[in-house]
Amino acid sequence: MDLLHSINDFNEAKQVIPGGVNSPVRAFKSVGGTPPFISKGKGCHLFDADGNCYIDFVQSWGPLIFGHCDADIQKNVSLAIQNGLSFGAPTELETTLAKEIISLYEGIEKIRLVNSGTEATMSAIRLARAYSQKDDIIKFEGCYHGHSDSLLVSAGSGCATFGFPSSPGVPKDFSKHTLVARYNDIDSVKSCFEVGEVGCVIIEPIAGNMGLVPADANFLKELRILCDKYKAVLIFDEVMSGFRASIKGTQGYYDTIPDMATFGKVIGGGMPLAAFGGKSEIMNILSPLGSVYQAGTLSGNPIAVSAGIASVCKIKQNPQIYPQLEKLANTLMSGFKNNAEKYGFSLQTSVRGSMFGFFFNNSTVKNFQDAQKSDTALFAKFHQKMLEQKIYLACSQFETGFICTPMNESIIQTAIKAAENSFAQMAKDNVKRT
Ligand SMILES: *Cc1c(COP(=O)(O)O)cnc(C)c1O
Repeated sequence: MDLLHSINDFNEAKQVIPGGVNSPVRAFKSVGGTPPFISKGKGCHLFDADGNCYIDFVQSWGPLIFGHCDADIQKNVSLAIQNGLSFGAPTELETTLAKEIISLYEGIEKIRLVNSGTEATMSAIRLARAYSQKDDIIKFEGCYHGHSDSLLVSAGSGCATFGFPSSPGVPKDFSKHTLVARYNDIDSVKSCFEVGEVGCVIIEPIAGNMGLVPADANFLKELRILCDKYKAVLIFDEVMSGFRASIKGTQGYYDTIPDMATFGKVIGGGMPLAAFGGKSEIMNILSPLGSVYQAGTLSGNPIAVSAGIASVCKIKQNPQIYPQLEKLANTLMSGFKNNAEKYGFSLQTSVRGSMFGFFFNNSTVKNFQDAQKSDTALFAKFHQKMLEQKIYLACSQFETGFICTPMNESIIQTAIKAAENSFAQMAKDNVKRT
C-alpha cells in the first residue's frame, strides 16, 4: 500500500506540531507505522493523501453516526453559515438543541452547551462538588473523561485508593481529591466512600475508553443506592454512549437514572460541541442563576449547534437505525470472533448499539485490569494487516469501534473477509516464529 504522501505529511507535521498530531492517539504509536493523512471522507469511507480509500470504523471517534458528509447535516450547516459564524449572544438554536436532548434523557431537566467533552465533564464535576459541598470524587480505573486535572488520575497501588496524577503537570494536590475505584466492583466503591468525603461519582456507564466494557446492570443500581446514601451526585459520562448505544444512550439498556449527565460526540454531528446537564435543582446553582462559575466565548456556537440539531433531529425521525446498526455490529463481531478462533486466536467481543469492541484476550473483560491482560502485540499486527486491506480501525486495543448508517451487510462482509485474511497471515507468521 502506498503511503508516500502521508509519510511526507507526517514528517512535515512533526516539525511544527508535537508528534505531528493534535491529539495523541492519532499518531498510531501503539500499532506502529504512519497514520494516513486524511484528505476527505464520504459516507463510510475515508480517503487519504495518497488516494487510498478505507472503510472507516472510527468515524471521527464516534460523532459521525450518519457517516461523512451527511447531506442533511451539511445542509443545515451551510444555511447557518450564511447568517454569521458566531455571535457570543443567545440564539433560538441553542434552546432547540437543549429541548431535543432533554426530551430523550430522563433526569436531565436543564443543560448547558460547551465545546468539548473535556469541558463538559470538568464543569459537571465543579458543579457537583459545589452542590454536594464535598471535594472528593470517585472515578473508575480505565474510564476516560477528558484531560482536565481532576480526571487525569490513575489508580494507586490497588484500587479504592486516592489516585495519583496520570500525567506530569497534574499537581498531587489535585489528584488527591480523586479516588479511583474498580469498574463493575461495588465493594471497591464502598471502600472509597468510607475513606473519602465523596461529593460526586463519575462513570462511563457503558465504558468505551478501555475498549468496550459495559457496566453490569446491578452494579449501576448499587452505585445509585450508594450515591443516595452518601448524598453524592451521580454523573453518567455519556459523551461517547449518548445517541450511540441507543437513542437514549445508556438509558436504552439500564434503568438507573443519574443526577447529571455529560454529552458530546454525536450531539455535535462532527462539530466541536458538548453539553452537561442534570436536575434543575443542581443546574440552577450555575452562574448566572447561582454562584458556580462556568463560561465560554464560543459555547453554543450557531454552526456547531446547527450540525447538532440536524444530527439529533435526524436520529429522532429515524429511531429504527439503532437496531439496524446493532445488527451490523453483531455480524461484524461474530465474524471477527469466528475467524479468529478458526486460526487459534481467542477474541472477546461486545456490542452496544452502534458501538463494538474486541480484545485479544482469553477471558471475559469486566474491568481495566482484565482489559490490560489483552495481547497488544497481536492487536498491533491485526491492525496493520487490516489497514493494508483498507479497513480503518481504531489504532489501539483500548478504543471502541463505530458503525454508521451508510454501512450495509456487504461492507461488513468485506471487513470480515479482511479479518479472516489477517488472522490467516498472523497464524502463518506465528508458525514461522516458533
Ligand atoms: C471523548 C470522551 C471525552 C472527552 O471528549 P473530548 O471532546 O475529546 O474532550 C469524555 N468522556 C468520554 C466518555 C469520551 O468518550
